[in-house]
Formats: sequence, C-alpha cells, structure tokens
Amino acid sequence: MTDRKVALITGIGGQDGSFLAELLLAKGYEVHGLLRPRQLNDPSLIPDNISHIASDLRLHPGILETQTSIEHAIALVRPSECYHLAGPSFVDATVVEEPAILAALVGGTHMLLSAIKETVPDCRFFLAGSSEMFGSVSAAPQDENTPFNPRSIYGLAKLSAHQLAGYYRSFHNLYTATAFLYNHESTRRGLEFLPRKLARGVARIKSGLQAKLPLGNLDAERDWGYAPEYVEAMWLMLQQKEPDDFVIATGQMHTVRELVTWAFESVDLDYAECVEVDPRYVRPSESVALTGDITKISKALGWSPKTPLKEVIEELVANELSTITRGYLADNPNQKLKE
Ligand code: GDP
Repeated sequence: MTDRKVALITGIGGQDGSFLAELLLAKGYEVHGLLRPRQLNDPSLIPDNISHIASDLRLHPGILETQTSIEHAIALVRPSECYHLAGPSFVDATVVEEPAILAALVGGTHMLLSAIKETVPDCRFFLAGSSEMFGSVSAAPQDENTPFNPRSIYGLAKLSAHQLAGYYRSFHNLYTATAFLYNHESTRRGLEFLPRKLARGVARIKSGLQAKLPLGNLDAERDWGYAPEYVEAMWLMLQQKEPDDFVIATGQMHTVRELVTWAFESVDLDYAECVEVDPRYVRPSESVALTGDITKISKALGWSPKTPLKEVIEELVANELSTITRGYLADNPNQKLKE
C-alpha cells in the first residue's frame, strides 16, 4: 500500500461518515467528502455532524446518481481509500422510495467502482453493507457464510452493491471489502431509529414537554452497537493485506423493553407509566434473531465492541436532556432552570 493517505467518504455528513472523518483526521489522513452541490453552496446546509471539523475537511460536490459527477470527484481527489457510506439507511421504506434506494445503493456503488477502476485502481474500497442482507434467517447468530435472504428493498439493494464489489474484486482486481453492519447507535443517529427516538422521548417527558412516549413492539430484539467503535472496524478492514468481508456486530441481543427500562431508569422514571404501545409503530413482519457472530473480525483484526449498550443509551438520554436545557436557556437567558 502507498504511504499517501487520502480518504474519500461518501455519506460524510451522516452518523458513520462523521465519526469516520474524525478518526481518519486523527490518523493524519487528508479527508475528502462528497456532499450534494446545494449543501456546498450554502454554509448553513453543511450537516451538523461535521460542522465542527468542516474546516479540516475537503468537501466536493458529488451526486451518486450522476456518473460524470462521480468520475470527476474520483479524478480530482485520487483517493487511496474510498469509504462508501452514502445512501438511505432506513429499512422501513415505502414503495415510492424504492427507486431512490436502488439508484443510490446499486447505481452509486457501480459508479464509484467503475470510476476507481478507470482512474485509481489501487484505491481500496469499503462498502457499508447491512445485516438486512441476511434478512429472513434460519440460524442465529449470522456469520460471513450465512446465506443471504433479504426481505426488504433496502437489504436487496445492499446485497446487489456487495455483489458488485465482489465482481470488481474478482474480475478487475480491485481491493474491495464489505462490512455486514448490524445496528449501531450514537447521539448522531437519526430520530426515526428506536434508540434516539426513545432518548428524546425520555428527555422530553423528564422535562415536562410531553406526557407519553408511543412505541411499537417492546419485545422486538436487535443487536445494537456503538457507532464510533464500528468506524474503527471499517478502517481496520482496509488496512489488511488482502481484501475480505466481515460481520461487524456485538453478538448480543437486547429487547426494546430493556433499552426502554434503562433509558427511563437513568432519569428516575418508571417506563410503565410513560410508554404506550401504538399500533402505528408495530411492524407487521420483523427479522427474527438478527445478531452477528464476530469470531472472524475478532480473530483477524483484533476488533471487539467495548461500550455496553446500557452506557450508550444513557449517553443518548443525557445528550437529549442537555439539548433541551441549552434550548431553554437560549430562549430564557435570564431564568434559572428548575432542578
Ligand atoms: P432498524 O433495525 O433499522 O429498524 O432500527 P431501530 O433501532 O429503529 O430498531 C427497530 C426495532 O425496534 C424494531 O425491532 C422495531 O420493531 C422496534 N421498535 C419498537 N418500537 C419502535 C418505534 O417506536 N420506532 C422504531 N423505529 N422501532 C421500534
């Protein structure tokens, strides 16, 4: 591998992209990211997740649906490592969103790979795959040999992108690596995901801004990890001699009810008095037992998750509470906050 450390991150404004950008800057990389042109033309549209490091980043216009735009970005940046994280991340998509999901995940991956092949064939390519690629599983936990059986357009699109990466690895000799990423959380996660929705709801109830939190199935289970640790694994994956694919997970399942209990307990509230089950949030068909076997990544890369999920949830609640406090003080600069 060359000594030139130039990374290009698609999806740099998202949860994973922003943590990865911080990690790579700390490691001395020149870090480039793609943003939509309108975001670059208006400083107020730079995503919050990267506003604190924006002056250290090199941001370029890039549209993952437009071949020329991607070719231009690759030729300009000439990355030594490309991390493809962009694309919708919400599994529960409606039919109208499906073409956009396919275009971003399949078309976008193809555009990047073909541009890399033409211009910088030594560039190492990371693809953010998903546990949704395993879909309906017959065995748990899943590992790198588990058959794919996606049951969402999102999972299917991620699988196609992974197969494209495999094709470029086998037939064009590119260094491509896919991570099968299980759920991973942080204060930068979207509010549509359970952990952040829960944390915000708890903070708002504690602050007297709402009385009840509507949720779906409290017995649903997930393998939830901590996002800053997952981007370390992504980086490690591109530092290996040979490209390979890895499951990135915790290997631990937790129920929604456990998360709910921890979150409310952290502010001395009883969840039973605050949570109401709302059928709108109950999913008709759920993946059962999606949990990852991390034997391969632990052995090969020495990576393992560190932060217990309870701590992650407590961090999320504390962050939402401080956001509410900051907002209150900004609106009421002369008032003291009630204990
Ligand atoms: P996902 O795996 O991408 O759907 O990520 P989430 O972190 O949002 O996890 C969703 C899990 O929590 C599913 O098993 C849902 O059935 C369950 N769940 C229960 N109530 C809710 C809710 O109100 N919102 C969301 N997003 N999920 C919920």
